[in-house]
Amino acid sequence: MFGLNNQCSLSVDEEYLTLEDYQGRVARWCPGCGDNGILIATQKLCRDEQLPPEKTVFVSGIGCAARFPHYMGTYGFHGLHGRALPTAQGVKIRRPDLRVFVNMGDGDCCSIGTAHWIHAIRMNMDMVVMMHDNNIYGLTKKQASPTTPIGFKTNTTPRGAYLKAMNPLTVTLGVTNVSFVAQVAEWIPELLYDVIKQAFHHKGFSFIRILQRCPHFTPDLYSSLLSDPGKLLLLRHENGIQLSDTMGKIYKNQEEHNPADLNRAREIAEMTDQVPLGILYRDENVARYEQAIKTERKPSTELRRKVLETAFDNFGILTNNATTA
Ligand code: SF4
Repeated sequence: MFGLNNQCSLSVDEEYLTLEDYQGRVARWCPGCGDNGILIATQKLCRDEQLPPEKTVFVSGIGCAARFPHYMGTYGFHGLHGRALPTAQGVKIRRPDLRVFVNMGDGDCCSIGTAHWIHAIRMNMDMVVMMHDNNIYGLTKKQASPTTPIGFKTNTTPRGAYLKAMNPLTVTLGVTNVSFVAQVAEWIPELLYDVIKQAFHHKGFSFIRILQRCPHFTPDLYSSLLSDPGKLLLLRHENGIQLSDTMGKIYKNQEEHNPADLNRAREIAEMTDQVPLGILYRDENVARYEQAIKTERKPSTELRRKVLETAFDNFGILTNNATTA
C-alpha cells in the first residue's frame, strides 16, 4: 500500500510572472488583424524578461495600433494623434528607471507625427518603438496614409493613391544619431519575437517597422510575400537574429549583413525587388539624450534651493509695519 509522504512539498516561485500578468483587456481588433500577433509577441517578451508591470509603460497615439496599451497588464498612456513619442520622452526623462514601449500606426507616425518621429530618432532616448505598418488609416475607415502604395484605391484617393509611398526605413536611417533600425513581418512570429527582443536589449531609440496585415481594408497587400517566401530577404549576422533550422528551410533567401554598416543598411532599405527582414542598423555608441542632460545639466541641490528661495522671496508676506504702495 502506498501512502503519502507528508514531508513532500512542491516549491513554486511565487515571484515568477506569467503571461496572464501582462494581459490587459480582451483585444477588440478585427479577426485576423496582425496587431494580435504583435501583442502576443510583446507580452511574451515581457514575461521572458520578467519586467515588473509597475515599471513598464506602453505609450500610443491614435489609430488601431494605439489600442495597444489597453491590452497590456502594465501602465499605459493612450494619447493624442501623432504625439506618442513626445509623451514617451516625457515619461522617460522623468522616470529613466521605467521601460518604455511605443506603438504607432503608419498614419500616426509618418504623417501627423513626423516631426516628433524625426526628432525622437535624433534624441535617441532609450525606448522600443513599434510602427505597425498596414499602409492605411484603419480606424478612420481606409484613408490613404504616407505608406499607401501608389495606385492603391482608398476612400480619400478613389482613383488610386497619387504619390509614391514613403519608405520609413530610409527616412529613419537618414536622421542624425540613428541607433537601431529593424524591419519584420508580424506573420512570422519567431522572427517578430526575436527582433523585438533585440530592440529591447538595445540601449537607445529602437525603431522597428512591422509589416502588419489589415484583413479589413488592405487584405491583399502582403499576400504575395505570404505566398512566396523567396521575396523576403532575411538578414543574418553574429549577435543578431537567430534563425531556427525550420526558418532557414522556409526562408532560404538570406544575406550576411553587418549591422554596423550604415551605407549597406541604406542600400538594403532601398531595395524594391526584395523585402528585407531583420536588423538593418545598430550602433550602441550613439549618445542618448537622457545621458547627456544627466551628466551636464543636472543642478546641485544647493543651487536648486537657492533658486527656490529667490523665487519665494518675490512673494514675501507683508508685516504689520509694512505699508502697501
Ligand atoms: Fe486591424 Fe485593419 Fe481591423 Fe484596424 S481595421 S483592427 S488594422 S484589421
